[in-house]
Amino acid sequence: MDTATIAAIATPPGVGGIGVIRISGSDAADIARRVFRRPSGKAIDLTRMPSHRLVYGTINDPATDERIDDVLLSWMRGPNTYTREDVVEISCHGGPVPLRETLRVVLAAGARPAERGEFTLRAFLNGRLDLTQAEAVLNVIGARTAESLHLATNDLAGDLSRRLEPANAALVSLLAYLDASADFPDDEIDLADIDTGLAAAEEALADVVAGSKAGMLYREGIRIALVGRPNVGKSSLLNALLRSDRSIVTPIAGTTRDVIAETVNLHGIPATLLDTAGIVETDDPVEKIGVERSRQALQTSAAVVFVVDGSASPTAEDIEIARTLADRPRDQQNPVVIAINKQDLPSQEDQSSILDILPEAPVRHISASMGKGLEELESLLAETVSDEASGGAQPALINARQRAAIDRALAHIHDAREARAMGIPQDLLATSVRAALHAVGEVTGENVDEAVLNEIFSTFCIGK
Ligand code: GDP
Repeated sequence: MDTATIAAIATPPGVGGIGVIRISGSDAADIARRVFRRPSGKAIDLTRMPSHRLVYGTINDPATDERIDDVLLSWMRGPNTYTREDVVEISCHGGPVPLRETLRVVLAAGARPAERGEFTLRAFLNGRLDLTQAEAVLNVIGARTAESLHLATNDLAGDLSRRLEPANAALVSLLAYLDASADFPDDEIDLADIDTGLAAAEEALADVVAGSKAGMLYREGIRIALVGRPNVGKSSLLNALLRSDRSIVTPIAGTTRDVIAETVNLHGIPATLLDTAGIVETDDPVEKIGVERSRQALQTSAAVVFVVDGSASPTAEDIEIARTLADRPRDQQNPVVIAINKQDLPSQEDQSSILDILPEAPVRHISASMGKGLEELESLLAETVSDEASGGAQPALINARQRAAIDRALAHIHDAREARAMGIPQDLLATSVRAALHAVGEVTGENVDEAVLNEIFSTFCIGK
């Protein structure tokens, strides 16, 4: 591992109250001695100071002695630091120029610019975090609701590794057993032990895979399409859902907001609501585009809210929309929830001709303009999408790389079971078990090569 002292701006670009420069490595204290001055003008020897202290002073350019900024410097001696190396953090004023100038003198004093994710990479290489924890850092930073943050901080504390541990332990002892029996071929090998070990490993891995679907909901969010003929109250419903305080969700950085798409917080699941123009066939060329777009929205959404006007008798258009939803091919049938709107109006008409076409769709009565029944509708939607996704497993936040490694482990376990059933020699069985163990180790980071690490950490930002 490259042990040069590294430095980077750790706060996001732009203007803020404070901005932080992070320095990590054995020269951190020496760099601070060169660029930092106490109010008295004296340099500072951090190595003689207790760890985890803050000092007030200025950053000066050693070449000209010119003052750059007033700062607070924090000193954290390794190994009780993020990277386990000596760390100095300089809290400057939060503007691009003070930060850039401070970084410039820090680099001139001997640090090298940190690569993307290099602080976290060092935390991993120095054994402070395993790979699932290092990758959880990204989920913590990218969390879009309090619930997804909660899942990510659990993983940061080692949850995912703990969930994989039974698989790891079962495979390790199985391998020891197989190796031992290979050394003493005359001893009878107990096949039931092998089956138990393989089943235990498979169960732990399958549980994480099952939970990952629900985890995806929290991390990536879902899309929900609002359909219904004009004037039933789709945009009123959208706005009512957005207005509630619980609905505040951080949009994914860099996405432009479509006028018809808004993200709300559905019991912790970031849900993008798509107000669709119409899904019924038309000959009008302009409307055709809207119809096409709405159909796409329908296909890519996890659930559909079919809004109808409770104060009016179902129209031919309502019926046609209901039929369109019911007649979708099986593989495109995401769950439909019917919201009967305008409950505040005195005249309530019979909607059974609509409900009969979609007999499986649960129904909620709402008033978008009075804000009535919205919580019930939200709960129903949250339940509908999470049941559909997880089948009850505890949510797990795993990324594509981790998923691929777990799938590989499961495939090797499957091979081992088949080999066992077919009475294939033990050394071949051991090969599959070893490969499964290796794949589990790719998730926790026990077995990863440098190229994989580079790929993982290149998705981090600089300064993390
Ligand atoms: P959209 O075309 O389906 O998006 O429908 P809008 O949201 O634009 O609503 C159409 C009309 O119905 C507007 O005049 C709304 O004020 C009214 N509206 C929507 N929801 C309700 C409701 O719950 N009660 C009543 N009384 N009027 C509503």
